[in-house]
Amino acid sequence: MGLRRSWLRAQLVGLRSETRNARTLIFVVPGWPGHLAGQHLDVRLTAPDGYSAQRAYSIAAPAEGDRVSITVQSVGEGEVSPYLVEDMELGDELEVRGPIGGWFVWTPSPEAPVQQPILLVGGGSGVVPLMAMVRERARRGSRAPFRLVYSVRAADQVLYAEELAQRASEDRLQVELLYTRTAPEGSARPAGRITEADLATPSSADWNARVPPRAYVCGPTAFVEHVIGRLLSLGYTNRTIRAERFGPSGA
Ligand SMILES: Cc1cc2nc3c(=O)[nH]c(=O)nc-3n(C[C@H](O)[C@H](O)[C@H](O)COP(=O)(O)OP(=O)(O)OC[C@H]3O[C@@H](n4cnc5c(N)ncnc54)[C@H](O)[C@@H]3O)c2cc1C
Repeated sequence: MGLRRSWLRAQLVGLRSETRNARTLIFVVPGWPGHLAGQHLDVRLTAPDGYSAQRAYSIAAPAEGDRVSITVQSVGEGEVSPYLVEDMELGDELEVRGPIGGWFVWTPSPEAPVQQPILLVGGGSGVVPLMAMVRERARRGSRAPFRLVYSVRAADQVLYAEELAQRASEDRLQVELLYTRTAPEGSARPAGRITEADLATPSSADWNARVPPRAYVCGPTAFVEHVIGRLLSLGYTNRTIRAERFGPSGA
């Protein structure tokens, strides 16, 4: 974006538990300039002795005035994420800087006759910026075909489970949950790593129109590299893949 952003005070005004170790935090940030779906921000915590730590977090929902939400999954032994998930209380403040990132974004194309199909591939908390895109699509009434392939360890780790189920039935959003460690009983697909077959383009007409699909891939670095390899084999190119890497895979 080219702009040098400054740190802004952010006050916690809302909390929503997502899973046993993840929650959504909603901040009011006076002076927030707005953002696009897919962008992230930096969070800075400063201790009374002046020591400070900063980390990047994807923005979880479309811009709504000076409100900004993030969803954080606690990383055991982490410096910042356990504080955000377990300790921070309503009314507490921290600093944010953003929005950051101009490439990993999705915006609806205005009334194009053929909408570009969008494949979203998320691993773990990598679903967060993809959820911002899903919510933006609904908010703007976009008819772009959207398919979310979401890889998680087990069913109790699924972020936004209820909302995804609801949007799958109401918004023509295709959602596929892939379990890497434990698949729920009765699942057709055994637990395991994401494969080419999991990412193959649906045969429906809206996915095979004149505009080739674009893929957004987000998650731990090793996950993103693995998925990019599969997408290239399927005919995606560096121009039709956009990726965001969250850091260590935790493996
Ligand atoms: C652009 C971007 C967007 C991000 N968006 C989100 C988001 O929306 N939600 C979210 O929860 N996180 C997100 N992250 C990851 C986040 O920035 C932190 O890395 C994460 O919260 C861990 O920070 P920590 O201080 O708790 O752990 P640290 O103190 O930094 O690390 C503690 C231990 O955990 C390991 N570790 C660090 N990061 C990860 C990780 N991501 N996965 C597994 N193990 C890790 C380290 O190797 C170390 O062993 C994003 C990262 C980037 C770069």
